Amino acid sequence: MARRRKVYEGKAKILYEGPEPGTLVQYFKDDATAFNNQKIGQITGKGVLNNRISEYIMVRLGEVGIPTHFVRRLNMREQLIREVEIIPVEVIVRNVAAGSMSKRLGIAEGTALPRSIVEFCYKSDELGDPLVSEEHVTAFGWATQAEIDDIMALALRINDILFGLFAGVGIRLIDFKIEFGRLYSEEDVRTVLADEISPDSCRLWDIKSNEKLDKDRFRRDLGGVAEAYQEVARRLGILPESGPRDMKGPSVMQ
Ligand code: C5P
Repeated sequence: MARRRKVYEGKAKILYEGPEPGTLVQYFKDDATAFNNQKIGQITGKGVLNNRISEYIMVRLGEVGIPTHFVRRLNMREQLIREVEIIPVEVIVRNVAAGSMSKRLGIAEGTALPRSIVEFCYKSDELGDPLVSEEHVTAFGWATQAEIDDIMALALRINDILFGLFAGVGIRLIDFKIEFGRLYSEEDVRTVLADEISPDSCRLWDIKSNEKLDKDRFRRDLGGVAEAYQEVARRLGILPESGPRDMKGPSVMQ
């Protein structure tokens, strides 16, 4: 079999050249990082679960008209996606104070926000993805005003859809990070949802107990990381009874 050309390797995923022009294969690794690479580990089976969870969410969003890069899942760890030019801005949507917002503004974690808040961070590992304003995004040309308008509208719609989707399975969507890309065609350029949506990129709390079912279990050494990701998949109805085949059982190594 011909070796695939690696296009990009990030902290949790690898992108390979796809089978047709304009496509890529997105491979989900078990590697986990936090605090801008200061904490590095592995969560056995995470890639398998995130591939399934992100597929499920992208398909649900696509069904209600959100444009995404997702084409189809190929196997346990890979999905076919459309090649896009990533807009270098992380878009964070928050419903409840937590994480960096709680720290920055001194608001207790778990405090419901008066309304959903969208934040932008400039994607830069060297700078630690600093929080920026819409002004920075347009002035430095990271995205046009029209793209920002699309991104804001899409981010809030995605939040509404995901909030309901997770509430339906007893999970409170605290916040999440998404990324967008430019999908070029012969006729035009469209802003589409890219990257992944998974417990790596969302804060998900059990509605009744407030138990954390996301990457904060890894960031904060709470244990039971893989079990929490499995629980999210189970509640969404996408975990086969036997569990993913190449999962050896949960463990975290640092
Ligand atoms: O750390 P912070 O509170 O800003 O994170 C907000 C949300 O964005 C969390 O759900 C977190 O998992 C996600 N995030 C991410 N990747 C980053 C930074 C934050 O997925 N680089």
